[in-house]
Amino acid sequence: MSIQESYERIYGASPVAIQQVPGRVNLIGEHTDYNGGLVLPTAINKSVSVAIGEAADDYYYFTSAIFPDPVRRDLSKIRTGHWSDYPLAAFAWLKAQGGWQKGAEVYIDSDLPHGSGLSSSAALIVAILKAVTELTGPYMTDTEVAKAAQRVENEYLAVPCGIMDQMAVAVARPGQALLLNTETLAFELIELPHAHSFVVAHSGVYRRLDEGRYALRRRECDAAAAALGVKLLCHLTEESAKGLIPKLEQPMRQRARHVWTEHCRVQQAASALRAHELEELGQLMTESHHSMRDDFEISLPVIDEMVDCSRRFGALGARLTGGGFGGCFVSLVETAKVDDWQQRMLQAFPEITFV
Ligand code: ADP
Ligand code: MG
Repeated sequence: MSIQESYERIYGASPVAIQQVPGRVNLIGEHTDYNGGLVLPTAINKSVSVAIGEAADDYYYFTSAIFPDPVRRDLSKIRTGHWSDYPLAAFAWLKAQGGWQKGAEVYIDSDLPHGSGLSSSAALIVAILKAVTELTGPYMTDTEVAKAAQRVENEYLAVPCGIMDQMAVAVARPGQALLLNTETLAFELIELPHAHSFVVAHSGVYRRLDEGRYALRRRECDAAAAALGVKLLCHLTEESAKGLIPKLEQPMRQRARHVWTEHCRVQQAASALRAHELEELGQLMTESHHSMRDDFEISLPVIDEMVDCSRRFGALGARLTGGGFGGCFVSLVETAKVDDWQQRMLQAFPEITFV
């Protein structure tokens, strides 16, 4: 059934706007986004779709294909811990901007796993903002939509995320990587190769209480930047990074070393991707994993094993992707060998699911 038909079956009328937005996976550049650095995410083939119509009253009605409990909400309280907080927050932002003023009937469908670091939250919020603003105005560029979606998570949902997720899902299409300067939001789209694939696998480990650890890493990075006399770690020059980071106290030294080397690796990875130097790209992905494991300390032993195995079974490179402490890892595999590689991975780790 199409999303239009599902909507009509539930609400008994036609939607006025429909929008589909992909999820994303970060190929390289982890925890650089809130340090003013570069990231290189790509859109994936899984997405979130929304269908929206006007309600007869001032309430917001939300139904999702993946959550069993449809709800009626109002804007008096947004953060309740219910899944519908996210779409409600998007409407709260729209209303505050003088956009959509009435209640809404919303149907959400997706094949993008949620809570797995593939940015279902950003895809959902961007989908609602695009659907509504394309209908009612004001005209917004993809970058403006991404910034608004970040504010929805930061200010309305108190989720301290950077700008990468929203930019990736608002700008990139599957088959394209987005080289993004997270400070200026300048970006370049780079086509992905066909003979090689970036395969995303969920480790089977679900992140728990990771907001606390994410906030701690942010504080450690801020402390390192302050000790180095820069506003953000990626403002360092190559010379000052080399000279000053080794003099920091722990754990700031390790944290800053990860962020700085990761920022440099993204630049090298983008060059490798443009030049189709995939061995080099794979090598950089693996170095990135080691930096997350040893310096930023956001990996887990079981994910380290999966990443090592991935390479033993033929991947050119592999790394944890996303915030860390569980979630997904991404491997660069020759497309013709993906089936065989996946079977071997599943034999070694039955808990893996391929995205
Ligand atoms: P992710 O890593 O997928 O972005 P988050 O925890 O940031 O994980 O966001 C997940 C939240 O986004 C869900 O709890 C829910 O509120 C919302 N969400 C994502 N996908 C859907 C969906 N298909 N239907 C309804 N809500 C969704
Ligand atoms: Mg999210």
